[in-house]
Amino acid sequence: MGWTAVSCALALTLLLAGTASADAGHFGISFRDCPETASSGLQAALDAAYGRVNGTFGTCPDHVEVVIISDGAMDKVGKHVDSFSGWNKEFSAIVLRNSSINNCSSLPVLASHELTHLAVNEMLSKKDPSEYHWMEEGICTWISREPLDDADVSHYIVGHGFLDTAGIYDAIKSEDCAVSKNGYMQSYSLVKYMERRYGLEIIKKLLECPEESFDAAFLQCTGVSFASFYGDWKTRVMASGRE
Ligand SMILES: [Zn+2]
Repeated sequence: MGWTAVSCALALTLLLAGTASADAGHFGISFRDCPETASSGLQAALDAAYGRVNGTFGTCPDHVEVVIISDGAMDKVGKHVDSFSGWNKEFSAIVLRNSSINNCSSLPVLASHELTHLAVNEMLSKKDPSEYHWMEEGICTWISREPLDDADVSHYIVGHGFLDTAGIYDAIKSEDCAVSKNGYMQSYSLVKYMERRYGLEIIKKLLECPEESFDAAFLQCTGVSFASFYGDWKTRVMASGRE
């Protein structure tokens, strides 16, 4: 999470080499470059996040490695990054910033955000997901209940200009925090509007739809063209962003 969050499989592999983790439930927890602090709050937050994300999607990996790294090590990934995740068919991990694990307001958000990435990656792995990537950060931000005010988000989007879905994904990937924040906000706002209009199931249906064209999947799942939906979203954001 964070505007410059990255999934870095190579870094994760290096990070986990020789790591001994303590297994508990779905999680193997280990500490790197920071003191091992037995936090019952950490386990409870992970379990609660797993229950919620898996209850929503049913696709969380059975076992997830959780690696806690020092603030200094996380700063090398990005000063604004508090967590990131890595997923492939054999292995799933989330990495958390050490100072975040005792923060009882942000830890549940971080844990849910990263577990949602893992659940979404599992669903998208069954097709070429390139046209769906723009949704991912929005889904994770929304499912993790990041405390964002709708009017603030709309105001922000109006102020920065609307992006199409390719533009949203390009912005998300940017290493410039201000640019990537804009991508996150627009992905979040579109995903939330989709949920409001069609219900939670629409997100799952789209991710699981075998159709690789996003527009074709959207039409198939909703009966409405994405262009028309996007136009409605834009109108709504402009109205609430001006308030
Ligand atoms: Zn993320």
